[in-house]
Amino acid sequence: MKSRIYLSSPHMSGEELVKVQEAFSSNWIAPLGPHVDAFEREMAGYIGVGHAAALSSGTAALHLALIMAGVGEGDEVVCASLTFSASANPIVYQKAKPVFVDASSSSWNLDPGLLEDELEAASKRGKLPKAVVAVDLYGQCADYGRIAPLCERYGVALVEDAAEALGATCGGKKAGAFGRMGILSFNGNKIITTSGGGMLLSDDEGLIKKARFLSTQARDTAPHYQHSTIGYNYRMSNVLAAIGRGQLTVIEERVAARRSNFAFYEESLGRLPGISFMPEAQYGRCNRWLTCVLVDPQASGATREDIRLALEAENIEARPLWKPMHLQPVFAECRAVGGAVSEALFEKGLCLPSGSNMSREDQERVIDIVRKCCKGK
Ligand SMILES: *Cc1c(COP(=O)(O)O)cnc(C)c1O
Repeated sequence: MKSRIYLSSPHMSGEELVKVQEAFSSNWIAPLGPHVDAFEREMAGYIGVGHAAALSSGTAALHLALIMAGVGEGDEVVCASLTFSASANPIVYQKAKPVFVDASSSSWNLDPGLLEDELEAASKRGKLPKAVVAVDLYGQCADYGRIAPLCERYGVALVEDAAEALGATCGGKKAGAFGRMGILSFNGNKIITTSGGGMLLSDDEGLIKKARFLSTQARDTAPHYQHSTIGYNYRMSNVLAAIGRGQLTVIEERVAARRSNFAFYEESLGRLPGISFMPEAQYGRCNRWLTCVLVDPQASGATREDIRLALEAENIEARPLWKPMHLQPVFAECRAVGGAVSEALFEKGLCLPSGSNMSREDQERVIDIVRKCCKGK
């Protein structure tokens, strides 16, 4: 059996171990320390936002963002339907109700037209959502040129889930810099990783200070342990921040490698009948975290599941697109606005192995199998 090709595996630069060694030498093996502070500063600088709080996961960052947006029991929160469940789960942690809005077929992200309809209707009903969670899917920013002014007009907090999109841009600004708050993930399969971790970003220093407070059990200023608020244990470890700092030094190389993977797949498979690629929106740069294709079985002679299974038989990991949240059993009771676009994308969509450490040879293995599957009818 040939060696396994993963969808997206960690890719260290060498600099991480140097920084982890520093953490050990100075005995900062704690959920605070100089690497945490430096990682926050360096990430805020890279993205171009004022402030950042390093946390234990992207999900934790999103949870704190919703708490600080004032989301509570019975509130509605608009969320992109085509995403990973972690975008929506924190809404339910807050006992609020997700409203899932469909994707636009040109960006695969939150459809600004549907969002506008929903906000207008909600305004007429007299109950606006407490927040909008927009997702930068597969490393492509949502259309913030349209989404941000809409949220502003209705006075609804915009939270950007940029977990998959570090290094992407929209209109010259970097992913993570949009909305009142943005979040990143450094989970093991993301474009850079700390094994697990996340970050909350904002230009509002007060929000970031509050996030640091809430993420370390909400201790009041007192010599003893005193608490007036419920806190969380969500802070990032200094050891993992050391890994993150090493990873951040190579982010532009990682984006270039993922984009190059995409270009090679497109060049090799783009003319096959029934195969098309995730479009890149004109307003920015996608980091191509994962290369996603759509498989039209009428034209190609294969379904996306045929191709996934053929790849799996050769020890290659591929994955269907995210199953939309409005189709998930756990969210069956939630309201949905539209849904046909994300349903069609889910039915036809497949994510190909896309790690920045993949060789051309690995890609050739994938390409050969996809070609064999798509002989046309
Ligand atoms: C990975 C991911 C998250 C969650 O990040 P964790 O660090 O794994 O908690 C949230 N949203 C999206 C879109 C993701 O892909």
